[in-house]
Amino acid sequence: MIKINANYLKLQSSYLFSDIAKRVAAHQQAYPDRRLIKLGIGDVTRALPDACIQALHAAVDEMAHDDSFRGYGPEQGYDFLREAIAKEDFQARGADIQPDEIFVSDGAKCDSGNFQEIFSGDIKVAITDPVYPVYVDTNVMAGRTGEVKDGRYQGLVYLDGNKENGFIPDLPAEPVDLIYLCFPNNPTGAMATREQLKLWVDYARNNQALILYDAAYEAFIQDADLPHSIYEIEGAREVAVEFRSFSKTAGFTGTRCAYTVVPKTCRAYTEGGKTFSINTLWNRRHTTKFNSVSYPVQRAAEAVYSTAGKAQVKELIGYYLNNAKYIRRQMETLGYDCIGGENSPYIWIDGKSDSWDFFDLLLNRAAVVCTPGAGFGKCGEGFIRISAFNSFENVQEAMERIGQALK
Ligand code: PLP
Repeated sequence: MIKINANYLKLQSSYLFSDIAKRVAAHQQAYPDRRLIKLGIGDVTRALPDACIQALHAAVDEMAHDDSFRGYGPEQGYDFLREAIAKEDFQARGADIQPDEIFVSDGAKCDSGNFQEIFSGDIKVAITDPVYPVYVDTNVMAGRTGEVKDGRYQGLVYLDGNKENGFIPDLPAEPVDLIYLCFPNNPTGAMATREQLKLWVDYARNNQALILYDAAYEAFIQDADLPHSIYEIEGAREVAVEFRSFSKTAGFTGTRCAYTVVPKTCRAYTEGGKTFSINTLWNRRHTTKFNSVSYPVQRAAEAVYSTAGKAQVKELIGYYLNNAKYIRRQMETLGYDCIGGENSPYIWIDGKSDSWDFFDLLLNRAAVVCTPGAGFGKCGEGFIRISAFNSFENVQEAMERIGQALK
């Protein structure tokens, strides 16, 4: 008899965005003539930078001739891309990361979801709340949790984010082994300072723990004092893995390219006190289960680091940040407390009501789709997330409609 992995039965209903999609589909069926403006799911709307498109075309042409055709590439990514990443994203900021510590992949979603696989089933996992649901659900699937009680999985350590702590949770009160952090944060848009990250790095060093640091939104960081990578923090090379993605940086959500940094100095332990290199373990896992990102896509990603690519990415990010600024200003004018939108494409808004009710209100009265905060955890209740990924014209119209709806 083919039996299922019973941990899947613990998962809470469907994934947040399919719940939203169902309500949106029902709304569209009821009001087929209304033009919906979607500021919900975090998908980008603008085209790939021209430098990436040109690199893609050139690489596709190479694939058309026997003498320049490429088959399977190295599972970890081509050297040209790993070297550009190490130099431009890390060494240029004073972070000592080498090309062989970089694993190119097809997404930070897969990497941040898969990474837990190389650790024991009985480790203690800490997640911030609200949280990107992938970290939680993949640990549920792996059997590291019990059932849900009062909206939370038993066995997980939840680190509360709230208005009082600016959605930067405190260190755990009990010992934990694996900690998921995401800055700039999805969904709250909050960004940790160097001092705040240092506390986490020191905690991990003192507790033989590991930080999984998701920096998928790094490109949105504007304040000069903020760290772009956890490796800008002293000691992080020993205790942190970092996820990055070209998805939000350069519009690769449909093109697919990301990478994970696993320093050779990160260690994991056995009960008996033996130590293992996490880089070696991840390399084993990655080369067994993954067969590299396509050559043209890696060439397109490399183009992000060209002079033209850098200028085009800057313009792209600036465009979305301008939307974010506008959304935040409008919501504040309407009397709502907001965070985010300054170093992040997300604005986190205190809706002063149940978050699904506020979601329904904006959908029904303004035909605007946002994301209910409750979908990101218990601490998200009462909040909504509005995303800046859309045209400025749509953002303006959405905010005008919201203004009318909330009068
Ligand atoms: N990490 C976070 C925090 C995200 O919000 C997202 C996408 O929304 C991802 C990772 C996924 O990135 P990718 O497109 O590279 O899979």
